[in-house]
Formats: sequence, C-alpha cells, structure tokens
Amino acid sequence: MIVGNYAKSPEYDVAIIGGGASGMACALFLFEFSKIRSVPCPSIVLIEKNPRLGKKLLLTGNGRCNLTNRTVSADRYHGDHADYARYALSEFGSDETLKFFEKIGLQTFYDESGKAFPESLHASSVLDCMRFKLEESGTEIMLSVEIESIKQVNPGFILHDSEGRTITARYVVVACGGAASPFTGSDGSGYRLLDSLGHTMVAPLPGIVQIKTDTDFVKSVSGIKITATASLLIDGAIVRSESGEILFTDFGLSGPPILQLSGLVSRAMSGFSREKTAGTPEIRIDFMSEKTESEVCKMLRDRRDAFPQRKLEQMLVGIFHNRLAIRLLKSATEKPMSMMISTLSDNEIARLASSIKRCSFRVTGVMPLTNAQITIGGVRTDEFEAETMRSLICDDLYACGEVLDIDGDCGGYNLQWAWSSAYIAARSITRMRDREIYGSDSEAIENDGGYQ
Ligand SMILES: Cc1cc2nc3c(=O)[nH]c(=O)nc-3n(C[C@H](O)[C@H](O)[C@H](O)COP(=O)(O)OP(=O)(O)OC[C@H]3O[C@@H](n4cnc5c(N)ncnc54)[C@H](O)[C@@H]3O)c2cc1C
Repeated sequence: MIVGNYAKSPEYDVAIIGGGASGMACALFLFEFSKIRSVPCPSIVLIEKNPRLGKKLLLTGNGRCNLTNRTVSADRYHGDHADYARYALSEFGSDETLKFFEKIGLQTFYDESGKAFPESLHASSVLDCMRFKLEESGTEIMLSVEIESIKQVNPGFILHDSEGRTITARYVVVACGGAASPFTGSDGSGYRLLDSLGHTMVAPLPGIVQIKTDTDFVKSVSGIKITATASLLIDGAIVRSESGEILFTDFGLSGPPILQLSGLVSRAMSGFSREKTAGTPEIRIDFMSEKTESEVCKMLRDRRDAFPQRKLEQMLVGIFHNRLAIRLLKSATEKPMSMMISTLSDNEIARLASSIKRCSFRVTGVMPLTNAQITIGGVRTDEFEAETMRSLICDDLYACGEVLDIDGDCGGYNLQWAWSSAYIAARSITRMRDREIYGSDSEAIENDGGYQ
C-alpha cells in the first residue's frame, strides 16, 4: 500500500530505509516469515526517497537483471572482512533466490555461463513481481520520502525525513545501498545515517567500473570491440585474467573482462593494501589467447610468405579490425605502412607477435563512483553480526545490501548479496519479535524459512 502524505508521526514495527533490491526483499521476507507461521505480519514501512521503487534494479544486467549466479560462493566476495558474507550466502544462496522469485511469480533461467536472468529478459519483470507482492503483503510504502536522521529511543527509533516529519519504528533496517551510480538514489546517505548511530566506514571506492589507461593506443582504436583475454598485473605479476569482449574507449578500457578486473585496480590504486593488491597496475591484453606466441609468430611468417607484395597496412587485414591492425603493426615496426610485407624482418615479426599476445596498457586509474556499478567499502562488517545482520553497536538496528563493506564480482553476485543479507536481517528481526511477543523462537524459521 502506497502511503500518500503523512502528517502525524506514524508508528511501525519495522522501518526499512531504502526501496532498492535489499530493502524490498527484506520486506517480502518479513511478510513470508509471518505467513508460513500463520501469525500476524509486523507492521512494515518501506521508505524510498525516489518517486518509485527499485530504480537501480531496473538498470541491472543492461536492463535484463542478472539476479544471481549458479556459482555463488564466498570467494566471489570481497571486503575488509570478506568472510562475513559466507554465513548469509550459505543460508540463502542462488537456489533459494530462484525459489523466492518463483514464489512471487517470476520465471527465471541460468544461461550457459551460470548467470540467472528473468525469463522475460527484462529487469522490469523482477521489479514488477516484487512490487505486486509488496502490495499484496500490506507493506506500507512511502515514496519520495528521504530519511535524513535517525534517533535511538529506548526501545526503538525515531526517523526524521527531509520535510521535518517523523516516523517511529521498533526495528530499523538500513538498506540505502552504497554510493555507486548516485543518480539512482544510493548516494551514500546510508553511511551518514549509520555513522550518526556510532558505526564506522571503510572508505568507498568505485567497483565494476571502466579502467583508465594511457590514452595514446586506446584513442586510436576507440569504439572497437574485440574478444580477448585481459590480465591484470600488479608490480609485474599476473593477479587475475578474464576473457570476453573488451571495448576500447577514449579514456581507456571497458567491457565485461575489464569491469571484472576493476575492483582489484581500484583497491591497488587507492593505496590500501586490501587483499594484498597494493602496487602499480598494468592491463595486458592477449588478442589471440587460443595460440601460443610461437604459433602467432609462425602464422605471421606464413602470411609474410603468402602475401609478400601486399602493403604492411594489409598484413593483419582479415584478422583484426583495420584500425587495431595498424596500431599493432606500428608498435612492432617504424617502417611506413606503404612498404611491402616482405620487408618485415624476423625481429619485427617477433615484436608484432609479442604485441598481439602481450599488449600492455599502463593503468592511470578507474572511472569515478558516478560511473561505477558497485561500491567497494562501506559500513564496517565487524560492527554487524554475520548471523543476524544486527548492529553490535546500536540495539535493534540492522543493515543489509551494498551499504555494508561487501562487494561481489560482476555476474549477479551483488544482487545475490542484497537478497541473502536481506533474508538474514528479516529472519533475525522475526526471531527477535518472536522472543518479545511469544517468548520463544519459531520452529518453522529454525527449520528452513520456507526457501530451502
Ligand atoms: C548499471 C548497474 C548495473 C548493475 N547490474 C547488476 C547485475 O546485473 N547483477 C548484480 O548482481 N548487480 C548489479 N548491479 C549492482 C546492484 O544493482 C546493487 O549491488 C544492488 O542494487 C544493491 O542493492 P541495495 O538494496 O543494497 O541498494 P540499492 O539497490 O542501491 O537501493 C538503495 C535504495 O535506497 C534509497 N535510499 C538511499 N538513501 C535513502 C534515504 N536516506 N531515505 C530513503 N531512501 C534512500 C535509494 O534511493 C535506493 O533506491 C548493477 C548496478 C548498476 C549501477
């Protein structure tokens, strides 16, 4: 139910701040936990500062919403205490996620790489199914309401919105997201709210974002896409390699493999030695990963023998996009491109093979949080209990989703964190209320919560 203008200070059992992926899921889990036990649902308010729910969700997976991944496991997650995610993921992983969505009417499938999408291939289907279920659940939804401050009163909280109005709640869940793509609404305000209640932050950095490099090479091939393998080297050593479609841009590199490597670059460039990645980063692209360097050398020598009369600029035509072909040739020889292929020396052929196999780009940074899909960093997870998502600093306060210092790889892992952490927070609030109201835990929740 959408609450229009509210004047008096309404009271709720649970106030969820943030109507994004984790906030909406948390409200739905609270409802579901009540339903499976046939007890009245707590009064819930979902507060969203945008005029509509799930603005970021609509952008996910290029509008298709990659909502989880078959290969979800704790080692796909990062943060100062990355292991924090393990418990939530083990309780509510990808299978439970798909079951949850099936229950609310969404058909999904895994693609061949293990990514899960809605059958419709439209993120709007995911949002619609969540919205319809929220309406059926009786959750009160406040739109265009921004919470500016939270005051703890004992027991519970008073929330103040930007219009000076107040909302009272027994439990509060901060699900405000991080600071990436702030135009979607998640602009770091969750950090400020939690900071005011005594929590501390790991400085936010851009994650899943384009990488900036020296521009000389990339500018000359800007706009070209190529399937290749990109490796990230830190201080000369390969840290991680990713294959897929790489896009050259005026400022550097983009495309799925680059986005996947960008978190490590972001951390390394920030000067923090998180996950032992501080150092000087470099991206190395292998344009022919299916061949060894000596095979590429032989292939080039064979072409020299086959087409000796052609111009140098035609040497790689039929293999690479023309602009990329010429750029690679120019890094191997200073000869004019109008000279004949037969003039290429064995040394120049070897240099060309090396450019094709090990084309190096000096990394100068990553694009800012405005361009990023996720935030690295956030509220410190050692201040929240992993088994409940409950604050260890402020009673009855919970957090879930990207506001916490957990970031996942590209490929559905971040939304999975939103669902898993929301599930744990909702389950814990349900148990707390059970203890308060009935004096014991609910068996149904102890057993499975209805999703396993
Ligand atoms: C372009 C893009 C593509 C992405 N694609 C994928 C993908 O395919 N798969 C994947 O797993 N992840 C993807 N992500 C990441 C994923 O969307 C996020 O990790 C996820 O949405 C985080 O969920 P959340 O609920 O924590 O935060 P959000 O979804 O950001 O929701 C937070 C909500 O809180 C509201 N809010 C903030 N502060 C206040 C306040 N003070 N008062 C009231 N409301 C407030 C915001 O307006 C926002 O709606 C993508 C992100 C982007 C930007």
